[in-house]
Amino acid sequence: MPGSTTTEIKCVKCKTLFETEVIDHIDLSEDGDLIRNLRTGKANRQQCPKCKKVMYLDRSIVINFEPQSLIVIYDPSAKTKKSKDEWLQEYQSVVSFNEILTELSEETEFKVISKLDELKNLLTAYVKVVG
Ligand SMILES: [Zn+2]
Repeated sequence: MPGSTTTEIKCVKCKTLFETEVIDHIDLSEDGDLIRNLRTGKANRQQCPKCKKVMYLDRSIVINFEPQSLIVIYDPSAKTKKSKDEWLQEYQSVVSFNEILTELSEETEFKVISKLDELKNLLTAYVKVVG
């Protein structure tokens, strides 16, 4: 099961606010069925309960590429070096509080990606290796 959080979003069509579960963490070794949705930028599909409008949220998602020891943060809004650096800092501060994570992070590559094409390439390479 992918990691998800409950959040409130607003329908782009009728402006209704509704609470929904959004995916924020995917482990490819367990959630391989989500690769197709990730490649097309449709991992977070939501439907307005009122007008039934379907939306795809542009939210950041943490993706574990296992067993390749690669962690990718896909954040469509992190287009500048500054926003990418902020993610890196956040990641480093999270792992530094936890001994196991600190050890793990030494063997793990961490990447911030904002372009869907770049994510697609990684996923394509992943599927080739893992199948
Ligand atoms: Zn609506």
